[in-house]
Amino acid sequence: MRRKLIVGNWKMYGDYASNEALMDALLSGLRDLRNADYAVCVPHPYLFQAQAALKGSNIGWGGQNMSQFTGGAFTGSVAPQMLADFGCQYVIIGHSERRGALHETNPMVAAKFAVAVRMGIKPILCLGETLEEHDAGQAHDVVERQLNAVMNEVGVENLGKGILAYEPVWAIGVGRGARPEQAQSIHAYLRKLVAKKSKDVAKEIRILHGGSVKPSNAAKLLAMPDIDGGLVGGASLDAADFVPICRIAHSF
Ligand code: PEP
Repeated sequence: MRRKLIVGNWKMYGDYASNEALMDALLSGLRDLRNADYAVCVPHPYLFQAQAALKGSNIGWGGQNMSQFTGGAFTGSVAPQMLADFGCQYVIIGHSERRGALHETNPMVAAKFAVAVRMGIKPILCLGETLEEHDAGQAHDVVERQLNAVMNEVGVENLGKGILAYEPVWAIGVGRGARPEQAQSIHAYLRKLVAKKSKDVAKEIRILHGGSVKPSNAAKLLAMPDIDGGLVGGASLDAADFVPICRIAHSF
């Protein structure tokens, strides 16, 4: 039985004071919701703040990216060990905003996934097709390529140490997400691809859904058999939205 997991992706939003207020609200709002897992992925400068606020609670924390290199002359980059130093349990890898605007390639994403696993940080591997690819009927091919780039590099057992997140790019930040059945069909396809290599890993690995997840659509999405939680952007910035999504996850 896979436990539901809800992860907030704060992107490049927030400041010290607003983070403090948001985390206070999450700590009290999620305290009694013990049937699911929760985490927030915060901008790197606020990892210390997240660790101080959330340590010992039922809310995990993580980064939104990291270098594929473990150290060296890489100005402006953050090494995996630095995330580990601040107690990160999770790191988002290959978010479409990085694949798109920042030109992250499948091999870079695979290298980051591999080093996160080595460091004992759970990578949340984002997969998803653009609107053009979606309209051209290429969604399955795109996510298959993205998944295989990592699975072939790290091996299926290591893949199973991470988490998958299917986020159709056309559904991110627009307020209107994929229909639950539409999302389920890609989630099931991803699980089938993993099962070709290992039935056990396929049974265990959590596949989150992302793209305009909010309180009004979370219940129907999370009811799908292959949707094991959510990667939540906009709605994670307001406890009045994020807590109800977590409550829905807790109710399954
Ligand atoms: C995301 O940033 O991963 C995301 C899914 O954003 P939103 O929930 O705002 O669509």
